[in-house]
Amino acid sequence: MRITNVRAICTAPAGLALVVVKIETSTPGLHGLGCATFRQRPLTVVTAVNEYLRPFLVGKDPSAIEDIWQSSYLSSYWRSGPVLNNALAGVDAALWDIKGKIANLPLYQLFGGKCRDFVPLYTSAGGDDVHAAEESVRGWMEQGYRYVKCSTTEPGYKSNSAGSNATGWRRASRGETAGKSGEEAFEVDHSVLEGAWEPTPYVRQLPRLFEHLRNQLGDSVELIHDVHERVPPIQAIGLAKALEPYNLFFLEDALAPEDNAYFRIMRQQTSTPIAMGELFVNQAEYVPLIQERLIDFIRVHISDIGGISVARKLATFCEFYGVRTAWHGPGDVSPVGHAANMHLDFACHNFGIQEQHLFNQAAQDVFPGMPEIRDGAMWCNERPGLGIELDEELAARFPLPEMPYGGGWAPLRRYDGTVNRP
Ligand code: MG
Repeated sequence: MRITNVRAICTAPAGLALVVVKIETSTPGLHGLGCATFRQRPLTVVTAVNEYLRPFLVGKDPSAIEDIWQSSYLSSYWRSGPVLNNALAGVDAALWDIKGKIANLPLYQLFGGKCRDFVPLYTSAGGDDVHAAEESVRGWMEQGYRYVKCSTTEPGYKSNSAGSNATGWRRASRGETAGKSGEEAFEVDHSVLEGAWEPTPYVRQLPRLFEHLRNQLGDSVELIHDVHERVPPIQAIGLAKALEPYNLFFLEDALAPEDNAYFRIMRQQTSTPIAMGELFVNQAEYVPLIQERLIDFIRVHISDIGGISVARKLATFCEFYGVRTAWHGPGDVSPVGHAANMHLDFACHNFGIQEQHLFNQAAQDVFPGMPEIRDGAMWCNERPGLGIELDEELAARFPLPEMPYGGGWAPLRRYDGTVNRP
């Protein structure tokens, strides 16, 4: 059997740019799919796949997944980074999908079988103040969720999504609009035109939100918060300490990858569980944090580190150090990528939690077989491979949207105009 074609396919049924790699083989009808979504720079991945990986891979044996990964990784000489890793991840997952179809087994079986009956999910809640946030969390709990990420947009706060104002810290318009974070569908938020974001009111007020939630909700729910690497390192350390009484499940991206060395200091200061990794693309960024036992959850975006093959190795490595998985799972992971997350979630003993995204009906139609979500959990359809398909004709009806900055992040600015991490 040989690889006969490798293609990157773009579609945006839910408004966000998605990139999926399809590998076809010399066996009629046997093909595989893999997520290669780099929402902010999708066409760079398309070029890497169609112009560089396709000629390198056509004619090769699709069963040699590890050799194809290693040789593709080295073929650019300079390696890693989100563009090449996403391209490689799309190929890698498609090859695993093919292997599962040949074996006639769902992928988690090839990874060692199920460690659990279903995959618990966390969802995102929030509101304009602590009371609205509490109501939002309660709404999810009533639907069966036991893990909820929470933030508010009340004065001084900034929600997880770039876009709303922090009252009292307004700045003049620069005519910019902000892209929302991966958790929410992209739309232009005009309220940001006068908005600014300041770290100090945020770190002062966030503990009040979690104090309120714990007082009102008790210990019946696991609470999560994402700092989105927005505050200076010493304020992030202070925030992690201040949140300690409220027993978070984890505090996410308290520091930027550029400030990795501060995790050594944070670890000595607080027992708040730490999740990290959404922006990591290189093993040099995450291996030391795991080896030195500085984090509790690895939160990488699987296609950004190079795909399922790397994620399996990383999960196993984490298990030896007591670090649990919490793969990134927003709307700019394609449904094919969510299926990959799910198969690893079933098979890894050191699974921690899975972030969910609820796709719209159009996305469900474009990607038949996507993992089912109900009762706060993800469930497998037990089909071979990743268990998901792509309706190419339908996908073509949802071309990449015209977006400000080509879909990239708009600057998030402080009240004096200084650009901040998004
Ligand atoms: Mg995050």
